[in-house]
Amino acid sequence: MEYMTIAGTGLRPSRIGLGTWAIGGWMWGGPDDENAVAAIHRALDADVTLIDTAPAYGQGHAEEVVGKALAGRRNRVIVATKVGLEWNAQGEVTRNASAARIAKEIDDSLRRLQTDYIDIYQIHWPDPNVPMEETATAMRSLYESGKIKAIGVSNFSLDQMDNFRKFAPLHTVQPPYNIFERDAEHDVLPYARAHDLFALTYGAICRGLLSGAMSPSTVFGGDDLRRVDPKFQPPRFAQYLRAVARLDDLARARFGKRVIHLALRWVLDAPGVGAALWGARKPSQVDAISGAFGFSIDAQTRAEIDRIVAQEVPDPVGPEFMAPPEEVHR
Ligand code: NAP
Repeated sequence: MEYMTIAGTGLRPSRIGLGTWAIGGWMWGGPDDENAVAAIHRALDADVTLIDTAPAYGQGHAEEVVGKALAGRRNRVIVATKVGLEWNAQGEVTRNASAARIAKEIDDSLRRLQTDYIDIYQIHWPDPNVPMEETATAMRSLYESGKIKAIGVSNFSLDQMDNFRKFAPLHTVQPPYNIFERDAEHDVLPYARAHDLFALTYGAICRGLLSGAMSPSTVFGGDDLRRVDPKFQPPRFAQYLRAVARLDDLARARFGKRVIHLALRWVLDAPGVGAALWGARKPSQVDAISGAFGFSIDAQTRAEIDRIVAQEVPDPVGPEFMAPPEEVHR
């Protein structure tokens, strides 16, 4: 495992973080707590010390599973959770980063996670209907009280981060980033380097696409978001899968690895990345971790990866479909 310090904090997490959105079940076809707890334990045994979760993942459920899995091991783990989304009785999620919402959510998260502090507390999505000063000041007072050890934002633009930093310290940033979704390398990652922010990038294997385990006949059940994710619809799904097959050949030929290891390493080797978040939810899925270490991606291989993606995916699409709606809530 590799570790990296978060500037301005005493935190030094593992560079692979276990993401728990799928563990919450919501938008991933339902939860499976037994496998989820086993996956978390397997990750800890593989020296992962960073776990990313959020209240919205299963509307509290992912945090509860993490709390249960970490009982007795809390101090060995850096827990990152989020704030600033809310949901109604129908399970519809909207943004709310008001001071009142933050004050309520911190206590709910601490209870569900069975802890009295959060290591990294992140605004999940920017909320244009709340003044940034209100959101940032609420986060700063949690930081000053010791309830949270680091402040983060997720899915923020550079202007939004500039604005936030006028009112509160900022330690981490969480954008999407993987071989197929690269916008962050043009804006958020250079910004993170310039301002000494630790980037926890999400979706390392592009919602499973870069695992190498999918085929054209893979189907997704229940409320699985991949039923509406534009990457997983024809004709694009077949194009992305062809790129994955060629990336797998490249990983085998150059490094004796598989595409999942290449995808994780590719994120870890990108300038400005602190940790790659990866959403394994079964213990067997976690076993790929060790394969991400012991090699690095040279410039020639990086260029070859770019070529493969450009040739196979003529009409790429990003993760924008995941953005929750903005709503005036007061
Ligand atoms: P991901 O890590 O790219 O993909 C996760 C999915 O890939 C899993 O649910 C699993 O799906 C499949 N998978 C994982 N390991 C596998 C393996 N070894 N073999 C085969 N399939 C495997 O996507 P993600 O979960 O969306 O992103 C990672 C984390 O980032 C999240 O859990 C969350 O913590 C964070 N995140 C944050 C935001 C944000 O707005 N801040 C947004 C998205 C994600 P199946 O079990 O169905 O195959």
